[in-house]
Amino acid sequence: MRKENDIIIIGGGIIGGSILYSLLRDGFKGKIAVFEKKEALADESTALSAGGFRNIWSTVVNMKLTTFSIESFKNFKEETGISIGFEQRGYLFTYYRKEWERIIDFKKFWEESGVKTELLDPGRVEEMIPGLKAGLGHLDDDIVEMLSIEEIAGGLFGADCGIFNPTACAIAYFEKSQEDFSEIVEINKCAEVKKISIKDGKVEGILLENEEFIGAGKVVLAAGAFSRDLLERSGIPEEQNIPVVPVKRMLFLVNRPPIEGFEKNPMIIIDNGVYFHPEADDLLVGRAKPEQKPGYDYEMEKNYYVDEMNTYMQARIPGMEYCRIKNGWGGLYAVNTEDKNAIIGEHPEVPNLIFATGFSGHGVMEAPAIGKCISEKILKGSYISIPEVESLEFNRFKLGKLVKETIVI
Ligand SMILES: Cc1cc2nc3c(=O)[nH]c(=O)nc-3n(C[C@H](O)[C@H](O)[C@H](O)COP(=O)(O)OP(=O)(O)OC[C@H]3O[C@@H](n4cnc5c(N)ncnc54)[C@H](O)[C@@H]3O)c2cc1C
Repeated sequence: MRKENDIIIIGGGIIGGSILYSLLRDGFKGKIAVFEKKEALADESTALSAGGFRNIWSTVVNMKLTTFSIESFKNFKEETGISIGFEQRGYLFTYYRKEWERIIDFKKFWEESGVKTELLDPGRVEEMIPGLKAGLGHLDDDIVEMLSIEEIAGGLFGADCGIFNPTACAIAYFEKSQEDFSEIVEINKCAEVKKISIKDGKVEGILLENEEFIGAGKVVLAAGAFSRDLLERSGIPEEQNIPVVPVKRMLFLVNRPPIEGFEKNPMIIIDNGVYFHPEADDLLVGRAKPEQKPGYDYEMEKNYYVDEMNTYMQARIPGMEYCRIKNGWGGLYAVNTEDKNAIIGEHPEVPNLIFATGFSGHGVMEAPAIGKCISEKILKGSYISIPEVESLEFNRFKLGKLVKETIVI
């Protein structure tokens, strides 16, 4: 007998999980099935992320999405009984003189948008981060020249920002959904979607790798960095496909330096885009490699940490020379090459195909809001909680209305 679902979600990451959870909480009564190609749920970008969340952005839509999501993470334990390691320990961005002027100008915009920020002078930055030197007096001139670093002119601190465990959150979305709505929810692992079956501008269902066809009223595409390739395999023409490519980003787990109080630090962004936060007894350190080419590459390059990251950490925080690498990994960003923002909502030519992809490195922190927005779009026809999300629909590429985000790590 032909299997039928009202909704199929492709992708068992935090975005697919949040959409499933929100639809059910919002009263969806139809049959809903999730298809995940791996053996485990939340085992791709969700598990490989740094787990950071922040509401400091240059675009209103990202501020709204993350503000909504932070509130949801905060209440998660009370709502579900499951801990997701939510820690509002703050984000501290440090800036050189020229960028600092721009940040000072931006402060009013954040205030008007209800985002809590604090501007710190270099002395306050040093007080907040034990061991950090805002000046350059401790360094030889040739090191300063070689690294091209400048004095820190100021720090931007966001007290509402922090870190959490995205895997725990994603798994909780799936488990709670299955537990509470077992009669209408089906979660399939080791189930790779070969193509989405589209006929006369309408999705009919999906075809699995084992050639099984499963019918669906709507298909939600939450396949992260794999989304564009799946659409191509499904016959979506190039000009109607999404501008999303997989791009490797690396994270390194290193020893924490022997500096008292370092374990209490917020997420810190220092010179050359190097960022880190305490993770249990260690530090989790990252930096986007500017010349990284698109592709399904997961290799951890140890030398990249030694040459391009640790040098900056040592220069800014003496003591970091003790931080040896313990572990590390590469994972994929689903990078929207047009404006570095998510692509949400209906495909203009295939309205029952719904996108939730292209998060460009900020998907876990937007997941609760995205789940809510997609649920509202499906159940009520429009984005009620965060109307600004309409600006992230696919049509923006055709209309030339890009939503350019400049604060991307
Ligand atoms: C190193 C790194 C650090 C990051 N740090 C942060 C951070 O601090 N904060 C933040 O907000 N974001 C961060 N991100 C980005 C974040 O991880 C992603 O935006 C987020 O995980 C997207 O969730 P997703 O569910 O869309 O994708 P995924 O977690 O990748 O889930 C998509 C799922 O779809 C499945 N799938 C794909 N194709 C198919 C198919 N054909 N059939 C069936 N299943 C399929 C995949 O196996 C996968 O499980 C980081 C990412 C990386 C790599």
